[in-house]
Amino acid sequence: MNGPVLVINSGSSSIKYQLIDADGGEAIASGLVERIGEPDGVIGHRYRGADSEHRGPIADHAEGLRLAFAMFAEAGMDLASAGIAAVGHRVVHGGEVFYRPTRITADVVAEISRLSALAPLHNPANVVGIESAMRVFPDVPHVAVFDTAFFHTLPAEARTYAIDAAVAAAHGVRRYGFHGTSHEYVSGRVAEVLGRDNAELNQIVLHLGNGASASAIAGGRAMDTSMGLTPLEGLVMGTRSGDIDPGIVMHLRRSADLDVDAIDDLLNRGSGLKGLCGVNDFRELRRLIDGGDGAARLAYDVYIHRLRKYIGAYLVTLGRVDTIAFTAGVGENAVEVRADALAGLEALGIEIDLDRNAAKDRAARVISTDSSRVTVLVVPTNEELAIARAARRFAPDGEGDGPQR
Ligand code: AMP
Repeated sequence: MNGPVLVINSGSSSIKYQLIDADGGEAIASGLVERIGEPDGVIGHRYRGADSEHRGPIADHAEGLRLAFAMFAEAGMDLASAGIAAVGHRVVHGGEVFYRPTRITADVVAEISRLSALAPLHNPANVVGIESAMRVFPDVPHVAVFDTAFFHTLPAEARTYAIDAAVAAAHGVRRYGFHGTSHEYVSGRVAEVLGRDNAELNQIVLHLGNGASASAIAGGRAMDTSMGLTPLEGLVMGTRSGDIDPGIVMHLRRSADLDVDAIDDLLNRGSGLKGLCGVNDFRELRRLIDGGDGAARLAYDVYIHRLRKYIGAYLVTLGRVDTIAFTAGVGENAVEVRADALAGLEALGIEIDLDRNAAKDRAARVISTDSSRVTVLVVPTNEELAIARAARRFAPDGEGDGPQR
């Protein structure tokens, strides 16, 4: 019996954590540290179904983690006696360097910091989370699991931007892709649920959360994905624009006199659904649409139009598609998004069963008809479990994972 794995996901102003039994897959305890750096910080902690909360200013990520560890000691389970086998850290950008789970050393931390130029919002927060946790747990393996890793195998034609090749090479400009842990986990679950060999399946995975991305996967290998150098490209998201004409950036610079940080903020935090109609949560969007709000209706239509474009592109990229899977907050819950994304595609062998689609069921399940050539599924993602399993391989009694870079 292995000890549990602590999984830490440090975002720009929040930290998610879970203590996971990586064998059974059960989350023993979990929590969310929010509003770091603001006066009204909050930590919500759950241990075996019981919720507890801490409110008060949280100066920085290091203090956030320290307070979270104090919650473990107070509310359970006490980490000092939990026998933690490993700590898994979600790291957003692995650049060209990291493409598999990697045991964290001082050199690895330095390299993750160096990659901050590619992920200025995320990698610095990941580094603080790693350094804080390593101080608290100096004797267990800490393992970085990279959001970009699964897309390391993208074919050259999918990862290359058609810009000056020397400029691209000098600045690391290429498609990296993100949400890789989720795309890999979900595509693996699709094969499990269907009792099929993953190596034989051509899959489209639609990770639709507040951030959203699509991928085309052939036999377990990622062939294309919608996010690019950064998580800004591709689908319409909660607050991100997804694809736009790059000329818009220059136009705004010149005509609206916005500097690069203001444009960055506009496209990452003030666009997408929120930019179009003021809300980024699909439940609120639905309420607005039901109340006759025209801007919300247009936002929804733009969202679905973009999603269908990517599905069409990946059907052709893969040639033959066996499965389409929806996952993450929107993909798992928004019945109408799934129905509208795949409406009218019977000629392409895609037939949604509307009753199956509308069924309230938390488990991974098929929502296409029995006669549909393409099997459509809803598959709950579980990035924390995937990270825990990857990290546990580095525990003293784990399987190990060969070369780490
Ligand atoms: P994620 O980033 O995967 O946590 O997804 C978060 C998003 O999922 C939220 O912003 C909502 O838009 C959406 N979401 C969560 N629950 C529901 C629900 N019950 N119905 C529709 N959308 C939901």
